Formats: sequence, structure tokens, C-alpha cells
Amino acid sequence: MDILNFIGGKHLPAIENGWLDNIEPATGLPYGRLPRSGEADIERAMEAAQAAYPAWSSTSVEERAACLNRLADRIAEHFDELVAAESRDNGKPVSLAAHVDIPRAEKNLRFYASAAQQYLTEAGMAAGAHQLHYVHRKPLGTVGVISPWNLPLYLFTWKVAPALAMGNCVIGKPSEITPATAFLMSQWINESGFPPGSFNIVHGLGNEVGEALVTHPRIKAISFTGGTATGRHIARAVAGTSKKTTFELGGKNPAIIFEDCDFDLTLRTVLRSGFANQGQICLCSSRFLIHESIYDRFRDALVEKVSAMRPGDPSLPKTKMGAVASADHLAKIQSFVAQARELGGTILCGGQATHPEGDRCRQGHFMQPTLIEGLSPTCEVNQQEIFGPVVTLQPFATEEEAIALANGTEYGLACTIWTENLRRAHRVAARIDSGIAWVNCWLERDLRMPFGGVKSSGAGREGGTESLRFFTEPQNVCIQIT
Ligand code: NAD
Repeated sequence: MDILNFIGGKHLPAIENGWLDNIEPATGLPYGRLPRSGEADIERAMEAAQAAYPAWSSTSVEERAACLNRLADRIAEHFDELVAAESRDNGKPVSLAAHVDIPRAEKNLRFYASAAQQYLTEAGMAAGAHQLHYVHRKPLGTVGVISPWNLPLYLFTWKVAPALAMGNCVIGKPSEITPATAFLMSQWINESGFPPGSFNIVHGLGNEVGEALVTHPRIKAISFTGGTATGRHIARAVAGTSKKTTFELGGKNPAIIFEDCDFDLTLRTVLRSGFANQGQICLCSSRFLIHESIYDRFRDALVEKVSAMRPGDPSLPKTKMGAVASADHLAKIQSFVAQARELGGTILCGGQATHPEGDRCRQGHFMQPTLIEGLSPTCEVNQQEIFGPVVTLQPFATEEEAIALANGTEYGLACTIWTENLRRAHRVAARIDSGIAWVNCWLERDLRMPFGGVKSSGAGREGGTESLRFFTEPQNVCIQIT
């Protein structure tokens, strides 16, 4: 697959730097290439966007919503192709791409097509009815959207849809590790009715084309999802400018398992929250905090289930666990497991790189699902985001201790709380530093709700009206009446 940039309604290679290999994680082999774009390509995309902006920003919200809905229709029509492409590009099982990634990409477009049409701004009459105030929300101009590799089309559309719906022109940069589905989608942008230049996609490396995008003086806003270190780097790069930014970053999410939890439901769900997408969802639980009275029983049940989980060829429908994203990422995951061993942790199961049976995946990047106990809460393995199929187990004695452990990292994205005690659920949720607290469930999302993290997990919120507000500039208009 030769992936191309999509600029000004045309598919184009990079102007200067040639190509990058696109590797299939399950085989470890290149299966295509993508443009290694740079500053010149961003300049070209910016020219196209600036030319499109006056007309695009003055179309009606109904017209823009119709474009988003037509693009969503194309995603639905090409469902199987997109599922296969996402799985091949990322290493995730086709079953996961079919249940999570591609349906959600379609839903993101439809949701924001609808949300933008229903969005009402504020208005108010001053005391005495002497003046009427209202808020006029204007698009920002050309905005930059940068997304990671773990949920490629899902997160790309999550940002692009509200930006376009509110009348901005977009330059999007998908992850260089998973460019395929954004490229496939780019083939349907013109026919969906988006005018050339309104929606551009530029591929390449973060420190090259990503950097050129965020630092371009005419980019009005950056919506970024990715690692905390990259987010901080971008924040520094745009400091001193008036660009708007939103950062959705890493996590080290706790699952707090109380003694009064529904044992079977909790076990079933934390197995998913720990290991779905090989642990590569920002919302995955990577620290299981378990009340000491059920610790042994819960640990033994986990070990039994996790030991039976086997990574398989992601292209096979029966596979539940696939490859991790890249060779570098596998090495990073392994280095955390090695560190856990050195620190005296017990590897309860897993702990090794592996590969499924058969020739096709012999050089692929697979990691056994791994459970570790016996580590200090303050060690790196319990503090840093691993972003792989590795979960640590820690016992706690009191609610107070559980909260302290849960809050005891620099991150604050999500937590799950497992208890049948309603008062405790509310009490604990309120005291956890996180953008989301799930009680007796995981990954249930209502797209109207604010999404984001606290502490090092992010700054700003997406979702519902949060994104519609982010991608617009409010102007207070005041009319004298009497
Ligand atoms: P990453 O930070 O390496 O890359 C993310 C994106 O940023 C990629 O498109 C990359 O090319 C680009 N980039 C890299 N350097 C850049 C630079 N200097 N300037 C501009 N762009 C640059 O992250 P990743 O490894 O792709 O993704 C995994 C991370 O994303 C994990 O930390 C995970 O927790 C996080 N994540 C967070 C959320 C969330 O909603 N909070 C969701 C998904 C993933």
C-alpha cells in the first residue's frame, strides 16, 4: 500500500524527503510506505486550507454536517476493508477493530454532525432589560490535529469531526506507525462534499512534519493525543504564541477492587480493562489494587485466566489478543518487565516476548500477557506508563490506603472502582484524581460527556460541547435595547 498525503483535494507524495516504511506488527515486515513529509508539505497544506477557509467557514452547519454524515456512510460501506486495514497496521485483532475502532470512527462523525447542529450558545438579558448579550462562536481558522497509533481512526475522527463541523479547516497528522485507515478515509473526502483544502491529511514523523505543523504561525489550535513527553514538548514549542491547545496524554490507571465487589463481574471486566488491545488503550487499568481480604483469591483467579490468554495472528477472527505496535514498543515493555525482576517483583505469569504458531507471525512483535506482584508502589514499574499487556497487583487494607495508592502517581486519566456499596462508590470516586471514574464497568462512553485527564494525563477536555467550544472562539455581542 503506497500511502499518500491528501492536500487541497489531491493525493500527493512528500515534496522533499521521500518515504518511510510501513511495518505490519504481526509479521515485523514492511508492507507499504508512507510519505516522509516535512515543512514544505505543511506549507502546501496551509496554502490549500487558507484558500478554502472563507467559503468553508461560511457554509451552513447543516451543509457541513451533511459532509460528515456522507463520510460516515463511506466508512460504513467500507467497513470490512477498514477493519482489515486497522488490524494489519496496528496489530490489533480484527474482532477488536470490528467492535471498537471502526464503529466508533463512524459514530464520531455522525455524533458531531448532530451535536454541531444542536449546539446553542449562551444569551442573556442584562438587569433592567437595557442590553441583550449573546455569544457568537466563530471558527478559529486552520487547526492542527495529531493522533497516536493505539486507536488510529477512532481518535483521528474524534478530533477532526468537531473541528470541521464548526467550520475550521483541518490539517491532520495521523501516527506514522498507523497511517493506513486515515489514508483510506482520505479517498472519500472529495466525494463526501468537503471542498478541496478544507480537510487535509499529512503523513510522516512526529519530530519532522508534526513539529512543522504545531509551530506553523498560521495554525490557530492544536488538538493532540499521545504520550506525556510529546505533549510537554509541544506545549513548550507553542509557548509564547496564542495557539489554543488541548492535550490528551498518558495514564497509569488503577482498578480499585474492594472486598464487597461482585467477584465474577469484576474479574471478567478487569481482564478486559487490563489487556484489551494488548494493554495499549490509554484507559486500560495497569495497576490492580486489591483488598487484602480477597487478594489471594482474586490473584489466583487472575493468574488462571491470564495464563490461558495467548496472543494470536490478529487477522484471524478467533484471535482475542494481537501484536504490540512495534519492535521498539515491545523492547520498551520488556525493559519494564526486566526492571520488575531486578526489583524483586514476582512475575506471576507471562513476562516474555512470544509469537503465535505458524510462519506468518514468526518475526512479529508479540508479548505474553503479564501479571506482576511484590513491587513497591513507588518503583518505576508502578509509576510509569508501560502501555502494554503488563499489570501489577498491590494489596491494600483500608479505603484510605486504596485512595492514596490510586492517586500516588503523576498521572490521572481514568480509574475503575469495584464495590457493591453505593456510598463507598461515590465517596471514593470523588476523591480520585482522574478525568473518568468508572464504577463496576469500564470503557463505557457517552460522547456527550467531557473526556480528558488531570495531572500529567492532560490539559483540556474533549467530547460533547467541550470540543465544539475548543474549536471556536467566543465573541460577546452586546446590543443596547433601551
Ligand atoms: P506519541 O506521543 O509518540 O505520538 C503521538 C503523535 O504525536 C504521533 O502522531 C506522533 O507522530 C506525533 N508527534 C511525535 N513527536 C511530535 C512532535 N515533536 N511534534 C508534533 N507531533 C509529534 O504517542 P504514541 O506512542 O503514538 O501513543 C501512545 C501514547 O498516547 C500513550 O502515552 C497513550 O497513553 C497516549 N494516549 C492518550 C489518550 C488519551 O485520550 N489521553 C488516548 C490514546 C493514547
